Amino acid sequence: MKKEKVLRWFKLSLVVITSLIGMSSGCKCPDIVGLPPMPSQPVSTPGPAPNPTATPSPAAPYVEITTPLQNSSFVTTTPLTVNGLAKNVPFNSSSQVNYTIIGWVVAGETGTDYTLEETGEMTTAPPGLLYTYTLSPPAAPTGRGRKLYYEIIANLALAGTNYTSQVNIVQDYIDQCRQEYIDFNRAAATRPMHEDFTNSQGSTNFALTEFLDKHDLNNVSQYKKNAVYVQATLTAGLESMRTNLGRKININVAYRWPSTQYSVSSDAPEGNHQYGIAADLNVPNATKAEWDNMKTAAKAAGACVEPSDYGGRENDYTYIHVDWRGVCPTDW
Ligand SMILES: [Zn+2]
Repeated sequence: MKKEKVLRWFKLSLVVITSLIGMSSGCKCPDIVGLPPMPSQPVSTPGPAPNPTATPSPAAPYVEITTPLQNSSFVTTTPLTVNGLAKNVPFNSSSQVNYTIIGWVVAGETGTDYTLEETGEMTTAPPGLLYTYTLSPPAAPTGRGRKLYYEIIANLALAGTNYTSQVNIVQDYIDQCRQEYIDFNRAAATRPMHEDFTNSQGSTNFALTEFLDKHDLNNVSQYKKNAVYVQATLTAGLESMRTNLGRKININVAYRWPSTQYSVSSDAPEGNHQYGIAADLNVPNATKAEWDNMKTAAKAAGACVEPSDYGGRENDYTYIHVDWRGVCPTDW
């Protein structure tokens, strides 16, 4: 192997080992992590070996990394800014700091710890005080069902010793969900913002929990309940429909993450459930009379109503799909 390659793999192995040590301590990483900078981590120490358990001397050099977390989100086209400052070093040593960013996919959501799975990218920045980097996660046209995770590593070589500091940033569940709109190539204008999730709420007669993506909740993985996107047009429309109907309405399915839309209906990639404006409602007794009743109430509330024989269904009165997309297809 070429020297550079060996060096690169050495760096990588070091990072993996560091990560594994962190995990074995039961690290249950919070949604967005800005770990405090590690104090001096000399890679090789000249002279007598120090006591490994001793607290590092406050006078030892270290690199302090700070990075604004992009409104708690890194689903963004704004470059990530990393600022590294060498402390306890001769004047101007910060200009000698090198940065490395490594992108990972966090494997699985079922265990208590995250397992880092694959390297997305690795870039070494030129030396400098301030470093900007545009995150460009690898494409995932069929989804990944996992969070992205970035390690930002700063290294300072000083008098033959390497001092390394690291911060990690992990997507929260909302970012993971938003990432799917990119992964599945949904039109940019239709992609929800972070605050569209945090602002989502229920209404007088519909609790927000009724709108959760239920697709995964019956399986081992339950992470989809952590991000739900509901537009006000949906709750207002359902309230209006309920008033017209004069009775309670039960929601079977409302919000779907894009990966759910893909897995239940890949031939309808633009299904409105993923945009927080659609619901499938339970029809009492599954009779035509009840179904027609609900359709009338929905239409009067401004909804589009999927025909009962749509998509290969044959006069299926077990549920009724309603959405508030605005202009409805013919016969909806
Ligand atoms: Zn539907």
